[in-house]
Amino acid sequence: MPRNAESTAFRSALEVIRGVEPRVADAIGAELADQRESLKLIASENYASPATLLAMGNWFSDKYAEGTVGRRFYAGCQNVDTVEALAAEHARELFGAAHAYVQPHSGIDANLVAFWAILADRVESPALKKAQARHVNDLTEADWFALRRELGDQRMLGMSLDAGGHLTHGFRPNISGKMFDQRSYGTDPDTGLVDYDRVAEAAREFRPLVLVAGYSAYPRKINFRIMREIADSVGATFMVDMAHFAGLVAGKVFTGDFDPVPHAHIVTSTTHKSLRGPRGGLVLCGPELADQVDRGCPMVLGGPLPHVMAAKAVALAEARRPDFADYARQIVDNARALAEGLLRRGAKLVTGGTDNHLVLIDVTGYGLTGRQAEQALLDSGIVTNRNAVPQDPNGAWYTSGIRIGTPALTTRGLGTAEMDTTAELIHAVLSQTSAGVGPDGTASKAKYVLDPALADKISRQASELLTGFPLYPDVELG
Ligand code: PLP
Repeated sequence: MPRNAESTAFRSALEVIRGVEPRVADAIGAELADQRESLKLIASENYASPATLLAMGNWFSDKYAEGTVGRRFYAGCQNVDTVEALAAEHARELFGAAHAYVQPHSGIDANLVAFWAILADRVESPALKKAQARHVNDLTEADWFALRRELGDQRMLGMSLDAGGHLTHGFRPNISGKMFDQRSYGTDPDTGLVDYDRVAEAAREFRPLVLVAGYSAYPRKINFRIMREIADSVGATFMVDMAHFAGLVAGKVFTGDFDPVPHAHIVTSTTHKSLRGPRGGLVLCGPELADQVDRGCPMVLGGPLPHVMAAKAVALAEARRPDFADYARQIVDNARALAEGLLRRGAKLVTGGTDNHLVLIDVTGYGLTGRQAEQALLDSGIVTNRNAVPQDPNGAWYTSGIRIGTPALTTRGLGTAEMDTTAELIHAVLSQTSAGVGPDGTASKAKYVLDPALADKISRQASELLTGFPLYPDVELG
């Protein structure tokens, strides 16, 4: 491909958009400029390739394609079939899964598909069998009423939010918490690590239908073989949500006991975090759950997004290339270098380090809340997000943590030396920020004091750090 093909493609697209609503074209251009300038350490974000981005902006967006490949409820889906089949094939091959469902629009949607596939398999199918009915429509009113109650009376055991679990793993503000009676396992208060004996004990006591592993803010690996043994010991279905670390599984950094695919009954993921694809989700499973998973749309999903499935096919093809394994290894090397750089300068890290793509700084060590630290870093050109730490004294809004991750900066090409500089910049900001006071003179959890000259200096240093690592170097919007 000629070097300027990407520039031509994006420039032409913006020109066409500008002809209709120039403010949208301007906002798209401004977003690229902002992303180019900021030191993006948000652990759940990345930069998709130009090919992935371009695969989304086309005529596939106009197609309805309810159903599955070769079995649609709409005519004329032959080209959608091509891209959905390709995305599923790449996902199966990449992760070594028997079945892949690539329709979920996001990670939350993928989890909903998985929950309902498990409920259908474990609760609905046996009830239909018992009532000698083939379909829910064939049940009597009384049997249907009993089945609905039974579906709503199931238990889920997952990681607690403050230990790094995700809201969709059975927490009340999310629909999963309204569907399931949920209990959580936390981490060891001394080490911050998952204590498998405690998980086994909780499973024995609670006897969940579903045991969930997976996290948004746990900086270590999880042994999925042990988790599967725990699930089996209580007859639970074992589900892994690898939304955050799918790129590390794809890149064969997480193998053996740490690869969820051979151990879990069902695995869900996003496609846009460490996997570096378009915003979306997917579900992997064995043949036993495949039919139920394929009922995701219209069970819980709106019509498939064929343009995003096309982009998933492109991104998954990219992840099957050997250089993706180099990328995945570098993500982890970079996270380690960042953690070591912070520790050396005196930062306090949850679990004392990292095995994956993320680092969780306990900013109480700097006398700050997560909210204050997040804002002070943002003022200094460093984009992160605040996050609860285990047993967080500041709750889920203000928090005591800053979560940072390396997938995005690794895509830009930054390496371990730049991670050490990044640690230096983060430490410089946090160690020179102090908690502010509220209007009544008491300590505030939101206000902070940071010398604007220091914030400016760090911002300049952050952008200097990025100058050697241009984002989308072949895209020049003019
Ligand atoms: N699962 C986990 C573990 C996540 O971290 C996230 C996103 O933060 C999700 C699910 C939800 O993903 P999405 O925002 O694509 O719905």
